[in-house]
Amino acid sequence: MRRKIAILGSTGSIGTQALEVISENPDAFRAEVLTAQSNAEKLIRQAKRFRPNAVVIGNDKCYQEVSKALEPLFIKVYAGQESLTQIVEMDEIDIVLVALVGFAGLLPTLHAIRNRKVIAIANKEPLVVAGDIVTREARKYNTPVIPVDSEHSAIFQCLTGEEMSSLEKIYLTASGGPFHNRDRQYLENVTREQALDHPNWSMGQKISIDSATMINKGLEIIEAKWLFNLQPGQIDVIIHRQSVIHSLVQFCDGSIKAQMGLPDMKLPIQYAFSYPARLPNTFKRFNFADYPELTFRKPDTEIFRGIALAYEALEKGGNMACIMNAANEVAVEAFLNNEIRFTEIYSIIEQTMQKADFIKNPLIDDYLLTDKETRKVAAALR
Ligand code: NAD
Ligand code: MG
Repeated sequence: MRRKIAILGSTGSIGTQALEVISENPDAFRAEVLTAQSNAEKLIRQAKRFRPNAVVIGNDKCYQEVSKALEPLFIKVYAGQESLTQIVEMDEIDIVLVALVGFAGLLPTLHAIRNRKVIAIANKEPLVVAGDIVTREARKYNTPVIPVDSEHSAIFQCLTGEEMSSLEKIYLTASGGPFHNRDRQYLENVTREQALDHPNWSMGQKISIDSATMINKGLEIIEAKWLFNLQPGQIDVIIHRQSVIHSLVQFCDGSIKAQMGLPDMKLPIQYAFSYPARLPNTFKRFNFADYPELTFRKPDTEIFRGIALAYEALEKGGNMACIMNAANEVAVEAFLNNEIRFTEIYSIIEQTMQKADFIKNPLIDDYLLTDKETRKVAAALR
């Protein structure tokens, strides 16, 4: 039986690579649904090639264009923000790959969980913002949430066959991004283009900036806390420039397991689709001779504040990670629009975390409101 997959955000970096995984294994997987926010042209091209049952375009204005192109192929076409969430209800869907970016993934993720679809989660922000609710709902509906983020997939793979009670701690590896070893003064004047130029990974713009600030690693600490039910003290970050050890787990006997491979998101995507099985593929293999040296260093959290801010948000609890995330989304967008300096991303987040309203025990509506209100607070600081 082929697994039928809905790709939320099919036109993005993860979405495009997910379609490559599907083409590599057409007997195992089928693209059942594709969704995109506004890139109608690319969505049409993908639909013509993969012949999904349905597509959704978030931007209503693109409906006519998409529908006209796909009607002759009998592909259902929907448009609008609500359809982006509702589409996961379709009976045909087995797996929902959440590959859209930012807070926008939260409601589709929860809706997919409540419809008992297997969740392959690349979009880390929903877990950062409302990890308590996402994981609680997944337990309640008995829905597996399988990580796609490379570090979390690595930890998930290392934990396979182990008792959770024997886990002592985890190490998330970090490449250090394009500005590794640079000082504060250098960071003041870096450009958008420099920040987007990641040494090891080619990714969407938002996560590329998050990698340059290392806010991405901060978000991943919070993501790991919720996915693996960890205490903050059990999560450590280590700079590993080569990005071939994707993360590590240390057990109660001191033994450490690592998961390795070339830096290629197709691997964690395929694993999430095929889990618990592994499927053969023709992707390029790792060659030890190409990596004579693997290096490990402690991160500089004074210059790259992302990690420190995440631990602070975890310690405060409540809606603080939601506040941190919203402030970051606003600041990153402002930086991408050349409205603020690179280092102002940190100061906007820090100030917003002090100013926004703290809620100790938030419910889902509190998270939605926090996101909305925090964006205003952060935007005023630009
Ligand atoms: P991207 O910007 O390349 O793609 C985003 C996709 O989501 C696009 O298809 C876009 O149409 C859609 N989208 C954007 N905003 C939307 C909205 N408001 N509503 C609905 N759809 C929307 O992003 P990406 O790099 O593929 O990253 C996707 C997610 O995966 C992010 O949360 C990122 O942190 C995570 N992730 C990405 C990588 C990577 O290598 N790219 C690695 C690990 C984790
Ligand atoms: Mg990652």
